[in-house]
Amino acid sequence: MNTLEIKKLSKTYPNGVKALNGISLNIQNGMFGLLGPNGAGKSSLMRTIAGLQEPDQGELLFNGINILKDPNAIRSQLGYLPQEFGVYPKVSAYRMLNHLAVLKGITDKKSRKEQIDSLLNQTNLYQSRKKSVSTYSGGMRQRFGIAQALLGNPKIIIVDEPTAGLDPEERNRFHNLLSEIGENIIVILSTHIVEDVRDLCTNMAVMSAGQFVLKGEPRHLIDQLDGRIWRKSINKEDLSSYKKAFPVISSRLFTGKMQIHALAEKDPQHGFESIKPGLEDVYFAVQANLFTTKSPAHV
Ligand code: ADP
Repeated sequence: MNTLEIKKLSKTYPNGVKALNGISLNIQNGMFGLLGPNGAGKSSLMRTIAGLQEPDQGELLFNGINILKDPNAIRSQLGYLPQEFGVYPKVSAYRMLNHLAVLKGITDKKSRKEQIDSLLNQTNLYQSRKKSVSTYSGGMRQRFGIAQALLGNPKIIIVDEPTAGLDPEERNRFHNLLSEIGENIIVILSTHIVEDVRDLCTNMAVMSAGQFVLKGEPRHLIDQLDGRIWRKSINKEDLSSYKKAFPVISSRLFTGKMQIHALAEKDPQHGFESIKPGLEDVYFAVQANLFTTKSPAHV
């Protein structure tokens, strides 16, 4: 079992933005979802764990080793798939992986070839291994990104906003690949797509303004809202008056009508119907500052 301990991590950029505000968290094997709106601090945290930038304060321990003091201790055990994966034009996937494998210190030629072949198979790119990465589709590039992140059998991989721009089939394939990997190592998935976390992650946290505003297991967090989410279809012109009158946590246009969700202990009446909560409700309740765990009286 691998453990990453994040302890009171802070980072203020030279422009005064406090991107990380004394955050703490323990992460173990499995898929961990990091959710939050743009600007919440997710990438800052990912880059810090990946050793690409230093925090002002705090500690990061990986399997007990302080990786801020000893960055090399994690470098060989960590794979990183950044949001934008810069690709070299006119270089085949195989050659590029070979090059990156050498940089990662996999010096033995035979084991390098074995590992690259196996990763190309695992990511379903073996048939396209001789093609230049620059000609790859979005989904293939993402899978290539995973292949390079997995070189050297890392114990932790960090994936930043992975499914943006993928079509549903590509996204599905990418999800299956991540789930397989996540069984034996730590996979941290940073995203603003709530469904990705619901479908994939065993644990999660929500970030906002440099802090964790919620942590837990998606299933358990959803259960906290059982019997408290109410839905109504309204005319979109009426949204602001509904927001004033009811604890509305989200609204979305659905086949031309505005569908709103409210969080309330009791039936708000006025045509609201009770629905099963989803992880979106958890996320929006947190954003609206309305998420609370059930009191014992409700259990
Ligand atoms: P997220 O990944 O959740 O969108 P980021 O970590 O990218 O959040 O950004 C957190 C905050 O820090 C934002 O307000 C962003 O504008 C700011 N920020 C990020 N990187 C830098 C930087 N290199 N210099 C200054 N401000 C930055």
